[in-house]
Amino acid sequence: MGATGSIGIQTLDVIRLHPEQFSLYAMAFGRNIEKALPLIHEFNPAIIVVQDEDTKAKLQKELNHSYILCGGEGLIEAGTAEPVDVVVNAVMGSIGLPATLKAIQAKKIIAIANKETLVTAGHLVMEEARKHQVELLPVDSEHSAIFQALNGEKRKNIEKLIITASGGSFRDKTRKELEGVTVEDALNHPNWSMGAKITIDSASMMNKGLEVIEAHWLFDVPYEQIHVILHRESVIHSMVEYVDRNVIAQLGTPDMKVPIQYALTYPERMDLPVTNHLNLEELATLNFEKMDMDRFPCLRMAFEAGKAGGSMPTVLNAANEEAVQLFLEGKISFLDIERYIEEALERHDRIHNPDLSTIISIDEETRKRVRFHLN
Ligand code: MG
Repeated sequence: MGATGSIGIQTLDVIRLHPEQFSLYAMAFGRNIEKALPLIHEFNPAIIVVQDEDTKAKLQKELNHSYILCGGEGLIEAGTAEPVDVVVNAVMGSIGLPATLKAIQAKKIIAIANKETLVTAGHLVMEEARKHQVELLPVDSEHSAIFQALNGEKRKNIEKLIITASGGSFRDKTRKELEGVTVEDALNHPNWSMGAKITIDSASMMNKGLEVIEAHWLFDVPYEQIHVILHRESVIHSMVEYVDRNVIAQLGTPDMKVPIQYALTYPERMDLPVTNHLNLEELATLNFEKMDMDRFPCLRMAFEAGKAGGSMPTVLNAANEEAVQLFLEGKISFLDIERYIEEALERHDRIHNPDLSTIISIDEETRKRVRFHLN
């Protein structure tokens, strides 16, 4: 799910390296036919899912394929298809939520790269996973690091999770300098090559905020025990401190193929010849800094929304997705993103334990409210 996005393409890179282990049964993408076509020819998936009827019609002109589906229904059919063992959820935003829940019910292993799914409905996703005894394997590098640092350990012995943050493209800018930044400035991430939405989220530090909420759900750790530290090299991907003061960190070359492949091969490990070995002698120095919540209000708001719980993370996520879209369209400034989120959170009356339909309607309502703000 999300085959033409950054994670999708790199997942296919991993599949290509290990043809004896993996094959692609179904492939879902949005509208990027140009990017999808060579991948369809190469991997020959039995099911193709696209975003809408219009894209389906265009694709059918280019391609002789008997099974092209569309929209949310198509995602569900692909994710629950009998031959599927693992569903990689790498769509952008919360649109993958219903299909993820259905795939869990169909007992598929979920490799989760889409943090919005857990942010907006963590309680539902984890409840379903427990009920159906399905493993959620993190693809996000920080969560893959924590997952590995937790291998064989007891949750009760966790003192805290320490999530590292590279700081994104604006880490050295002051609040004043942030006033005038452009979309191009924001899309220029120093360490990771990623899609537009997540790169903007990294610049605003909302990405780290979403990761905090994701970690809370994935590892069942309270927010008070989740810490964020600035680490500009992105070499330590995160750490776990235990009650006996042992700290276990996971290190590696910053390349998303590493956590993607680990999620696909877990609990095994396989060679990844396309990625460079970590060279600590060349790096020489690793830097750490305290995270400044005043400098990065999106991170503060994410902690607050997460602690408040209920429907607040849904509002945080929906307002952020919509505001980032407006910024990418050139309609609002970079600092408007956090202002719009703050306002959406302030105006929302929290609902305790929302079900899926409530989450979907709050999500839509919040997006409308953010759009309306413009007029
Ligand atoms: Mg990450």
